[in-house]
Amino acid sequence: MAEKSTTQDGGLRPPGGIIANPEGENTEPAPFLSNAEIADRLASLAQLLSAQKENPYKVKAYQRAAAKLRNMSESLQELVQDDADLTQYAGIGDAIASAIREIVQTGSLRKLETLRSQASPDVASINDYPRLDPKRVKRIYKKFGISSVEELRGKLESGDIEQVLGLRMAQHVRQGLTETHAMLLYRADDLKSAVEEFLLGACRVKRAEVVGEVRRRVEVIEELGFVIETEDFPGVVARLQRYGGRTPLVSSGKDNAVFALSSGVMLRIQLAGKKDWGLQMAACTGAKAHLKKLTAVTGALRGLKTSFPTEEAFYRNFGLEYIEPELREGYDEVERAAKNALPRLITAKDIKGDLHAHSTSSDGSDSIEDMAEAARERGYEYIGISDHSQSLKIASGVSVEDLWAQIKYIDKLNASSRGFRILKSSEVDILADGSLDYPDDLLRELDYTVCSIHSRFALNREQQTDRLLRAMDNRYFNILGHATGRLLLKRPGYEIDIERVVGQARKNGCFFEINSSPDRLDLSAENARRAVEAGVMIAVNTDSHGMGELPIIRCGIDQARRAGLEKTSILNCLPWEKLQGLFKR
Ligand SMILES: [Zn+2]
Ligand SMILES: [Zn+2]
Repeated sequence: MAEKSTTQDGGLRPPGGIIANPEGENTEPAPFLSNAEIADRLASLAQLLSAQKENPYKVKAYQRAAAKLRNMSESLQELVQDDADLTQYAGIGDAIASAIREIVQTGSLRKLETLRSQASPDVASINDYPRLDPKRVKRIYKKFGISSVEELRGKLESGDIEQVLGLRMAQHVRQGLTETHAMLLYRADDLKSAVEEFLLGACRVKRAEVVGEVRRRVEVIEELGFVIETEDFPGVVARLQRYGGRTPLVSSGKDNAVFALSSGVMLRIQLAGKKDWGLQMAACTGAKAHLKKLTAVTGALRGLKTSFPTEEAFYRNFGLEYIEPELREGYDEVERAAKNALPRLITAKDIKGDLHAHSTSSDGSDSIEDMAEAARERGYEYIGISDHSQSLKIASGVSVEDLWAQIKYIDKLNASSRGFRILKSSEVDILADGSLDYPDDLLRELDYTVCSIHSRFALNREQQTDRLLRAMDNRYFNILGHATGRLLLKRPGYEIDIERVVGQARKNGCFFEINSSPDRLDLSAENARRAVEAGVMIAVNTDSHGMGELPIIRCGIDQARRAGLEKTSILNCLPWEKLQGLFKR
């Protein structure tokens, strides 16, 4: 174990202050197996296991572990060589820990090699692309009589896959074949914490603050940015190259550097001092469109004569109100800041309840009572139990009979629960023809409904829009759940004409939700902005399937803030007495 002390002894400063040359790096043998290389092997193993119809939980566990390892700052190789207990890290159980040890100690993984040698040629052909689902690829290979990744790529580019097997299949293949550099925001939050800790600890910077997409709370990020204060910038650059075992330096200047993190996103650091901290924070946070509008007021940021220790001081100097990072996208925030007319963005403490949560009655993991208790502990006044409706068999949809019983049961619970209310709701499927999945006489007994599409995603834009408009004509339709069905980085969602749907919601007194699930965040900030501008209120819902998910409301709040929403536009900032009236059509 030779080079272990590099993150601790303050050494590693390149001679003469020259920062390592990324091209030269390839010519030397890799000193470490990087975390990324270990993660790649686990991801390949997951794919081969899934092709063998292995228990999906096991497959998921390997996939999740691979994602976690890519974020870690500590080198797994070092940890193994130090005989550290790997199971102390979240997501690493005994089996995965021993796989990691085997990879580090032997350079390979027996199980992976065995499965590879046994794999059918079509599965083997995609093992370098672990995000491809072997079952789906098999189907494509069979359909087109092909057997290689090159042919698969060809069928994708020619549009054949989309034409014959649909948009979602084409999307899956495109994502599986493309190196992704994007990451969900909530994953990036973990990465952000790990890098921040590394900067403040191993790199000994005096101050590090996140900027860019993560600070603006963009739902999918490609770059992680920090402004840092240090007296030894080259030393920090050198140490960051040992992040997670090995992290290539992509470019560097005298006060900034970019690294390719093994999780796929870029890491950008910008040096700042006490005097220009605020200026650098502003310069590194805003989206391009924002900075364009901002510099029309301030002049080029790099050329400014005065430096600003805080962002507040910077904005004040130019007669602007402080602009919350979530708003710095280049809509109208600079104009509004100049007129002191920025919105007062919603915050977590404005939330009075959750209007979309599941229980064990359908596919949730906790009872109605437990969900209610967890909501009460968060300081909420109410929680809406909206289990799936009868047609959604894969999510144990609730039968007509059982929903009647549940309504009576909740009435009983409410009779004895002082000050807290369980709302009787349902996540009602919008059927293909736009009708709702329960009869009216049952829907009438609910406090409100969340109505969602869970099937027939392939209808075209006009059909899908008509389906929604028809559903909204039902007087028991209240909130449209996850309006586009998108799953970030996985599938684009079905197509709808959002203008028409917003128009119908306004006309009929229906509402939207921002679904806080980190891979949905549906409505998008742009669509939420559009709805509220048209006068349609929005619920910020978690769609929790267990008590532990209630805190993800923060992701929905981030999204609402990006849409510029104030609490007056949000349904669940209202007490139930007020809300009740809005649900009566
Ligand atoms: Zn749903
Ligand atoms: Zn749901």
